[in-house]
Order: sequence, then structure tokens, then C-alpha cells
Amino acid sequence: MRLPPEEAIGRNITLDELLASRDARQASQGDWLKRHAVALVSFTVVAPGPVKDSALTRRIFNYGAAALHTLAGKQGWPVMAQRGLASASGPEGLLAIAAPARDIKLATIALEQSHALGRLWDIDVLTPEGEILSRRHFALPARRCLLCEQSAAACGRGKTHSLSSLLTRMEALLHVADRDLVFSTYFAAKSFP
Ligand SMILES: [Zn+2]
Repeated sequence: MRLPPEEAIGRNITLDELLASRDARQASQGDWLKRHAVALVSFTVVAPGPVKDSALTRRIFNYGAAALHTLAGKQGWPVMAQRGLASASGPEGLLAIAAPARDIKLATIALEQSHALGRLWDIDVLTPEGEILSRRHFALPARRCLLCEQSAAACGRGKTHSLSSLLTRMEALLHVADRDLVFSTYFAAKSFP
């Protein structure tokens, strides 16, 4: 599922492309639900600004894809199929997982809250019948802004923060994730010589 960061398109997306990608995502979700008849995880990256497919968003995506795999492995959930897709509208992942959708949703919420980059992942879980389990189903508060205490939606609407400050914050979170990875690899190597 990994998408090479150095191959990112890195140009502004047009409104038509954005709308087309939304339709295409819905269509492929429908196809996958029909084909695999298990819960479906649809995964994208929070990408402020007009460039959605960049080295930055791909690196954030790759971390998320790896985290979803680790999660499925730990829980013993069979991944029936998976796909990473790159387009001008940003990285997208689909995973068909043979486990109860509700359990997957709860686990991905925990992942979003515990991982350094979790705040930058948008992980939807669909039931085999195609119902999207949203944060509302689990009485979770709306997502917070990357930079302040307000909701992300409020700051997005009001254009409270400059694009460069949001991107700088994303780079910083990626840096934390890189550091965490180095540490966990180091300690894993220490405990299992
Ligand atoms: Zn804010």
C-alpha cells in the first residue's frame, strides 16, 4: 500500500478533480463492499491547501497504512484485500477486513488518538452493508484544529491559520513520528537480541 513520496504529483488540484475523486472514491467503496462482503476501511490524509498529493501527505499516508496493518495483525483480523491509490486529490487507501466494523472503528479511533500522526488521518469504516460509522456514532467530540483549541471545522471555515503554519505543524508531527519509529525500533532490537 506504500506510495513513494518522491513520486508525488505536487501540483494544485482543480475543483473538478476534487469532485471527481469524491465520486470515484464512493464508487470504488461500493465495488469493494460487493466484492468482499466484509467491513471496509477507507483511509485518506488531512491535507489543507490546494496541493493534496505531496511528499508530505504521502509520508503521512504511509505511516497510517503501516499502522492499520500492525493493528490488523495484532488483533488477528484477516486483511482480504488492500489498495493504495495516488491521485491529484491525495493518497487513498482501501482495506477489506474480515472483522466487525464496530470493533475496527473503535480501534481506529484509538489509533487516531494515540499515534503522533493520528490527527492527520481520516479513517472511515464502513459496515458490509455500506453504512459509514462516523465519530458521531461514538459520541466523540468534533476534531480539534491542528494549531488551537477550536474545532477544525471552525478554523477551516474562518481561515484562522495560514497554510504555511498548518504545513509547518504537519512537518513537525511527522518529525515526532520519525523519532518515535527510531526509538521503538531501537528498543525492540534491545529486548529481542
Ligand atoms: Zn485553529
